[in-house]
This record gives sequence, C-alpha cells and structure tokens, in this order.
Amino acid sequence: MPAQVIDGKTIAQETRKKIAEDVQHFFALYGRAPGLAVVLAGDDPASRVYVNNKIKACEETGIASNAYMLPAAVSQAELISLIKELNLNAAVDGILVQLPLPKGLCAETVLSHISPFKDVDGFTAVNAGRLMLGSPALTACTPSGCIELIKSAGVSIAGKHAVVVGRSNIVGKPAALLLLSHNATVTVCHSKTQNLAEITRQADILIAAVGIKHFITGDMIKDGAVVIDVGINRFEGKLYGDAEFDSCFKKASFITPVPGGVGPMTIAMLLRNTLSAAQALAKERLNYAF
Ligand code: NDP
Repeated sequence: MPAQVIDGKTIAQETRKKIAEDVQHFFALYGRAPGLAVVLAGDDPASRVYVNNKIKACEETGIASNAYMLPAAVSQAELISLIKELNLNAAVDGILVQLPLPKGLCAETVLSHISPFKDVDGFTAVNAGRLMLGSPALTACTPSGCIELIKSAGVSIAGKHAVVVGRSNIVGKPAALLLLSHNATVTVCHSKTQNLAEITRQADILIAAVGIKHFITGDMIKDGAVVIDVGINRFEGKLYGDAEFDSCFKKASFITPVPGGVGPMTIAMLLRNTLSAAQALAKERLNYAF
C-alpha cells in the first residue's frame, strides 16, 4: 500500500499558531515579546533566503526579531564581540548565527561564544552535551522537527529500530540522541558504513540526512517504514530530498516530501526554542529580582 504523506507545511503552521498564542501569553505576563537576533555574515544567497524566512516567521508569530547583516570581510573578533553584546542584551532571548560562515571564520569558535541560555539552534557544546546526558536542553531545530513529524503521524517511537543516515553535529547526531531519548533502538550510519542497504532495510523509522539527491531508494527500505527525508539538494533550480520519493512512497507507511516536509518544521522549532529560551530567562530574572 502506498504511503501517507506527512504534510510538514500544515503541521508547521499548526505548531506556529500554538506558538503565537503562547507568545501572546508571554507578552501579557512580561510586557514584552520574546526576542530573536539573527546574525548573517556575508552574502550567500541561500543563507539570505533562510534568514529572511526566519525573520518573516518571527513577525507572523509575534516574536521580535533583529537581523544583523555583516560583510563577508567581518573579522572573527568583531563577530564574537557582537555575540557578547547580544548575550548581555535583555531584549534578546535567542541568538542564531547563520551557517556557513564566510571563509576564514571558524564556526565552532564563533558558536562557542553564544550563551547556552540563548542558543536557540542548540549547537553549543553545553546544549549538545545536555542532550547527550538526557537533561533539558535547547535542542537542534531540524532533529526536533523530525521527531514532531513522526509523532504527528501517530507513530510510537519507543521500541522501534530507528536508522539515521548521516552523523553531522547539526542533524544526524542530535536526531539519533533524540530518538534514543524516545526509547528507540538507534543505528547511525555514515560514509564509512558497510552494507548500508542491509541496515536501512531493517529500519522501522529511517531518517535520511546525507545531502545526496535520491540517495535512499525504495529497495533500501522495508515495507511499512516511516521515512523522514531531511535532505535539501538543489539541482537545476529545483529541490530534491535524499530519498527518491516515488520508489519509497510505494513501500513506506509514512513519508515526508521535499519540499514541504522537514524544512518548514525546522523554522517552527526555532520559534519554539526562542519562546522556551525567553520563558526560562524571564523566570530566571524574576527569581533574581526576589
Ligand atoms: P553534512 O554534509 O554535514 O553530513 C552528511 C552526512 O552524510 C555525513 O555524516 C556523511 O558521513 C554522511 N554521508 C555522506 N555520504 C554518505 C554515504 N555515501 N553513505 C552514508 N552516509 C553518507 O550534512 P548535514 O547533516 O548538514 O545535512 C544533510 C542534509 O540535510 C543536506 O541535504 C542539508 O541541506 C539538509 N538539511 C536540511 C535542513 C532542513 O531544515 N530541512 C537543515 C539542515 C540540513 P561522514 O560523517 O562519514 O562524512
């Protein structure tokens, strides 16, 4: 039987509606909107589109956002100095540095200066470490979005064999840890994995985060698998996922499309993280005041 398509666009819209309500509640309690600072260095066209989408999503949800557009020639010291200012700015609850950074800037060093309380991308060592420890954390947006999409399909994760193809710090690894925290049995595959198809065929839940167009084909999944396609591959002006949709659609029970699957959820999770960071910081300030 063909799969049901998980409509990430609609689920993201519903999530954003709920966040907008919670933002209003936050405003009523604290007299201000949660604030997100988005930092873009350089003029990469794709990054500019991502930043604009994030700013627009903030506006629609009632989150106050500020974009800091820096030239590609910005020095690492200047960028870090801006981050330090934003760390101290009480109107800013979330700081996002758009990646990739221009050549010559070290993302790891730059990101390490973001306060873990404002790290709404969940990329700092503190939040990545807290996720690993199973402690409350601001969690990377794309993997969180994957989990929400699986849940939205009514699929129970506990006890399932989840296979994650890709082990990047921003998608594969946090996705694996989140699945583990939901009690899946998790296998992580990467470019050195042998007999990949043998492993992916065992997956009840398959997350593809490889960055290669149509890398996962229908013969690599088992009947009834849930396929979450993270890949965004641009080819001749069109977007393609890491999973070959048509052949996987015939075998999967649920599948996310590209575009319109994980992508919209990533932004929704960024908004959710910004609100969570704002709530936590506001509570902390209240405790400090009394
Ligand atoms: P990376 O390039 O950082 O990581 C890719 C991973 O795939 C690596 O772990 C790599 O293994 C693995 N890989 C590469 N080739 C193979 C292979 N032949 N067999 C098995 N594994 C392989 O990419 P990201 O994690 O940042 O992103 C993955 C995809 O997701 C991209 O298309 C990206 O655009 C997309 N993306 C989408 C987002 C969204 O919002 N929808 C957000 C972020 C990313 P190794 O570690 O051994 O090199």
